[in-house]
Amino acid sequence: ATALGPVEWNGTGATADGHRVKVYGNVGSAADAQAAADAGAEGVGLFRTEFCYLDAPSEPSVEEQRKAYTAVLAPFRGKPVIVRTLDAGADKPLAFLSPEAEPNPALGVRGLRIAFDRPDVLDRQLEAIASAARDSGAEVSVMAPMVATAEEASWFADRVRAAGIARAGVMIEIPAAALTAREILDAVDFVSVGTNDLAQYTFAADRQLGAVAKLNDPWQPGLLRLLRFIGDAAKATGKPAGVCGEAAADPRLALVLAGLGLTSLSMNAPAVRAVGASLASVTLAECETIAAAALAATDPAAARAAAAR
Ligand code: PEP
Ligand code: MG
Repeated sequence: ATALGPVEWNGTGATADGHRVKVYGNVGSAADAQAAADAGAEGVGLFRTEFCYLDAPSEPSVEEQRKAYTAVLAPFRGKPVIVRTLDAGADKPLAFLSPEAEPNPALGVRGLRIAFDRPDVLDRQLEAIASAARDSGAEVSVMAPMVATAEEASWFADRVRAAGIARAGVMIEIPAAALTAREILDAVDFVSVGTNDLAQYTFAADRQLGAVAKLNDPWQPGLLRLLRFIGDAAKATGKPAGVCGEAAADPRLALVLAGLGLTSLSMNAPAVRAVGASLASVTLAECETIAAAALAATDPAAARAAAAR
């Protein structure tokens, strides 16, 4: 009896028996943030700050950044918002952070890796985020994209805390980070899985290339097993592990993710209610059964069918 019927969602992400799985919105602008709040998102699980600066010819000042971030945080006073530090790279170039031309941009100096060369840019962004957090009254956490090791996670968390921001996390987008999720969680306060990049790097399949789209499927056994690793690390440490890639917007996969031990799901506004209603339609024990069935499947179609039950 796990049909995804038209269950009403009461706005608090939880299974039918009250196990909390927070339902958050993904945003990149003040308009997105308002749409997420209007859709009933409990907070923001991913604020893509680089979206504010795709056309910026030079680095925005701390004051300009503070204003931009405050506008995005405004609808979420008193609510959790995870701000991601700049995720620039060849697929999302920022004029003021462009790396040298690289033969394999997806494998190059992108995300947090840029900050190792330019910690000053990171520190100015953290200063702006800290003051936007104070201005807006949102419960702000900060996370870094494209983290490979616990050592990198620890380096980032130190800088976040030095900026006076209480909660530091990292994205899990690289298979090595998924495999060491336990050590990474020991170094930070939370993790959030970017399934778009985690799938790309797990299957060695460019996420922008239609010809390999079949591999970039979160229902693939290879990806589900990495997600189990992360869920196990969350349970072992008692720290939050969310999902903020497109996978989190699939109401049926949401049940698998909850069953694996993931603690929040973040998605674009239009998916919020359907995912909230889906979670509310089953118990945690049912999610665990669904997750076990999906994990036992040997291909994505079988995993989807097993989870449909
Ligand atoms: C992801 O990789 O899944 C993710 C959420 O980050 P982005 O899509 O911005 O790379
Ligand atoms: Mg990503």
